Amino acid sequence: MQSTQSNTYDIDGFYADLVRHGLIIPTGIQGGYGRSQVFEDILRRFNDLVTRVAEPDGAEEMMFPPILPRKLIETVGYMDNFPQLAGSVHSFYGNDAKARELSARIHAGERWEDLLDITEVMLTPAACYPVYPTFSGLLPNGGRLVTVLNWVYRHEPSDEPTRLQAFRMREFIRVGKPDEVVAWRDAWLQRGLTLLKGLGLPVQSDVASDPFFGRAGKMMAANQVDQRLKFEILVPVISAEKPTAICSFNWHQDHFSAKFGFRNADDSVAHTACLGFGLERVTLALIKAHGFDPKTWPQEVRAQLWP
Ligand code: ATP
Ligand code: ZN
Repeated sequence: MQSTQSNTYDIDGFYADLVRHGLIIPTGIQGGYGRSQVFEDILRRFNDLVTRVAEPDGAEEMMFPPILPRKLIETVGYMDNFPQLAGSVHSFYGNDAKARELSARIHAGERWEDLLDITEVMLTPAACYPVYPTFSGLLPNGGRLVTVLNWVYRHEPSDEPTRLQAFRMREFIRVGKPDEVVAWRDAWLQRGLTLLKGLGLPVQSDVASDPFFGRAGKMMAANQVDQRLKFEILVPVISAEKPTAICSFNWHQDHFSAKFGFRNADDSVAHTACLGFGLERVTLALIKAHGFDPKTWPQEVRAQLWP
C-alpha cells in the first residue's frame, strides 16, 4: 500500500516520510537537506518538461554561478528590502599570526568570525538577478527573453521540507515594452496553471507580495498587492489552509531598466518581468499528490515526465 497521505497535512510527518522513503537526506542544516537520485530525477524531469513547453518561445539560455557581485546586491536594493534573507561570503585575509589565532580559537571552541572580512561576492538570492546587468543600451526590436536555472540562497532556516535555505529556481525573464511584458506574464500564468494541473496538482493562482523587511516593508508589500505586481501559483503541500507557492510571476516595471540603463529599440522605457518555478517545491508537491514512489504515479503524469 502506498501512503500518499493526500488528505492530511503534517509538516513533521511529511519530512519523516520523505526521509523514510529515502527521498531526502538529512544533513543537520535546517532547510539544507540532501536530495536522493529519485528526488533529483523528478526535479530534472519537471525542468525538462518546462523546457519542452517553452521551446516555441526560443528563450536564450544563460548559466551563472550561485554567487553575485556584492555591488549588484547593493544596486538592486536587496539590502534595503530583504536584509534578513541575504547571505554574504566572507574569507580570511590575515597573516600567519592571524591564521594561528584563527585555528587556536576554533580548536578552543571560541568565536572566530571577526577574523574574517567580506569578499566581493554574495550568494544569489534570485536566479534572475545576474541577467539584468547583461542588458544595456537599446534592446533589439521585440525585446529579449532569457531563461536560467540556478541555486539560490535565502536565510530562512526551517524544518518545513518546502522552506529551504538553498534551492533551485527555473526562471524566464522577459524584457520589452510594458504591454508586451504584461501580455507575456498573463499568458505564462495560464500556461503555468495548465501545465501544473495537467500533472494532477490541485493548483490555484493569487496575487502575492514579497517578504519585505520591517514596518516600512508592510507598506511596500501592500503596494505590491494593490498594483498586482506579483502572482503566485499555489498548491497544498504541508497545509490545506496555507497552500505553498510553487511558481511566482513578478512584474518589476522599470525597476531594473532604470538601474541598469536599458531601453526599448525606439528609446521608450523598458519593463521587465520574471517567472520562477521553485523546483524543489514542485517536486515535493508532486510527491505529496501522487505518493513517495514515482513508479506508482498515474500513467498520464508519468507519460509527461518520463516521455
Ligand atoms: P525576485 O522577485 O526577487 O526576482 P523571485 O520572484 O524570482 O524573486 P520568489 O517569488 O521569492 O522569487 O520565489 C520564486 C519561487 O521559488 C517561489 O514560487 C517558490 O516556488 C520558490 N521558493 C521561494 N522561497 C523558497 C524557499 N525558502 N524554499 C524553497 N523554495 C522557495
Ligand atoms: Zn525573478
